[in-house]
Amino acid sequence: MPIATTPYIWFNGKLVPWEQATVHVLTHALHYGSSVFEGLRAYQTPQGVAIFRLADHTRRLFDSARIYRIHVPYTPADINAGCHAIISANGLERGAYIRPLVFRGYGEIGVVPKIDPPVEVAIAAWEWGKYLGPGSDAEGVDVCISSWQRMAPNTLPAMAKAGGNYLSSQLISMEAKRLGFAEGIALTTEGMVSEGGAANLFLVKDGVLMTPALAHSVLGGITRDTVMRLALEFGLETRECAIPRELLYLADELFFTGTGVEVTPIRSIDRIEVGSGRRGPITERIQQAYFGLFDGRTRDQWGWLDYVDMRSKPRAATAG
Ligand code: PMP
Repeated sequence: MPIATTPYIWFNGKLVPWEQATVHVLTHALHYGSSVFEGLRAYQTPQGVAIFRLADHTRRLFDSARIYRIHVPYTPADINAGCHAIISANGLERGAYIRPLVFRGYGEIGVVPKIDPPVEVAIAAWEWGKYLGPGSDAEGVDVCISSWQRMAPNTLPAMAKAGGNYLSSQLISMEAKRLGFAEGIALTTEGMVSEGGAANLFLVKDGVLMTPALAHSVLGGITRDTVMRLALEFGLETRECAIPRELLYLADELFFTGTGVEVTPIRSIDRIEVGSGRRGPITERIQQAYFGLFDGRTRDQWGWLDYVDMRSKPRAATAG
């Protein structure tokens, strides 16, 4: 999907024109994968545009940086303000995808140079539609088990949302697409279900909701957490557990969760229909609760919506 460019990108504390948010080719992260990032969505709601679970995404960004001993030269409040500024300065009142990125920048070359490269921070936002294509919400998608496994524990930490981890995601998703599937699901090195290329996975079997536990090389998805909390509201507790591959073939319902994919049903896996081959009732109920957060049908009792003041653009756009 081509990017719908916007006028500004927040780059090291200033709003700069989109084309000027560039780096040197010897940037550390380009060579060694040393970036951590986030993906958030802002939604158009009846009360105006709101960023979904901003504080939680910012916390995960700092947690990812902590694992890699990357010192973020801004506070979480600065990052939150940057996310607000990038929506208002670009006039994204119809909602947007927001991409904060922290990376080791341009300095002495080397895996661990004597002098730490400077840490740079960027936040971009643009309008973005359905990650797995139009209609995927209702119809569901066809997926396969990847021949690529997720990183083993104590190799690359799956709980860090780090640039380098997305080499694994690229292998999983490229293979799936090459074979004609929308997405791939990776197993752990022990053969348990892990997650999709860029999404967590949920399974419904005999009315029980299950998802792989954090020990199974998954990112602690914020949508995963949202779905678990929404399901609890209608009396459905999620089991975070080990899921053997074959249970996917026997599931009544399967769906992906993620900021990009939101809640997307899976209608077949390895060409075996999931349940009846149509979106299941629990998936649909969870989708209604999830999308209801943004159109007002689900009360935001958690304070997950962070409303953006769209009038604050001129000050931010000229800062620095
Ligand atoms: N796993 C991976 C590997 C991902 O890239 C994503 C998307 N960030 C997710 C899971 C879902 O996470 P979230 O719900 O926080 O977007």
